[in-house]
Amino acid sequence: MPVRPTFRFAPSPNGHLHLGHAYSALLNFDLARKFDGRFLLRIEDIDPARSQPRFVAGVIEDLRWLGLTWDEPLRRQSEHFADYRAVADKLAAMGLLYPCFASRAEIAAAAGPEARTDPDAAPIYPGLLRGADPERVRRAKQSGVPCALRLDMERATGRIGGPLAWRMFEPDDPWTAEARAADPAQWGDAIIARKETPASYHLSVVVDDALQGVTHVLRGQDLEAATDLHRLLQALLSLPSPLYHHHRLIDGPGGRKLSKSLGDTSLAQLRREGASPADIRGWVGVEKESDPIFGSSRDLG
Ligand code: GLU
Repeated sequence: MPVRPTFRFAPSPNGHLHLGHAYSALLNFDLARKFDGRFLLRIEDIDPARSQPRFVAGVIEDLRWLGLTWDEPLRRQSEHFADYRAVADKLAAMGLLYPCFASRAEIAAAAGPEARTDPDAAPIYPGLLRGADPERVRRAKQSGVPCALRLDMERATGRIGGPLAWRMFEPDDPWTAEARAADPAQWGDAIIARKETPASYHLSVVVDDALQGVTHVLRGQDLEAATDLHRLLQALLSLPSPLYHHHRLIDGPGGRKLSKSLGDTSLAQLRREGASPADIRGWVGVEKESDPIFGSSRDLG
């Protein structure tokens, strides 16, 4: 029996959904339908400082209003920290993680003004605590200093020992894929477990995509570089690697990238102003299932 493709939409409930989210959710939902697949909704709420229950409720309300349905149960990452911790323990047992209690300011100072930056524009970690004296680390932990866990990138890539690639699919033929070289080293010693939670976006997304049997990850171009790191984690952990496609981003007024935190026109606001789900589909250029995925959006200005 052929495998049913499994797509997902995985928002972080840090704010209201905007048109960019609608675009991504609609593409995933429509493709799942078109290819007789599953569509999952995952709430990526590992960040205790930013995630809020009212935004989770808003995600559900907005997606229902758009006419989307998803396979139950919905997965909330905050209910699964034990899963992420177990996987981080596995990487630690392989000797690939080390504790880091350096502050952001210390990292910036050590990296210097000319520091190379990672794809999220953070300075590449200058290795402050890589190979640190275990006694120093023990003392810091004992005195309650919060500690993150970082991936020793050199060791991790060394362990793979050769080039890595992820596979890119095209939405009109989702089972045909083309290899794309992955360069995880561009992230430096990435954070795998954060100071305030035993997980990170990169770790939890890789664990969940595997656990939930996701076969197709269709997400924005802003996450394309993250895929390189996700591929490395999958290889280290012997997890299956989904096929990927990174869609264009929807521009806000003036060509600016839409952002939840900047308070860009939210779906809830548009709905209050009288927009219909069909209007939203029209604005983002996903009028019906057969629409080309790169169809241009209307001018939102
Ligand atoms: N939670 C991420 C976000 O809202 C998306 C994760 C993903 O699609 O891999 O940006």
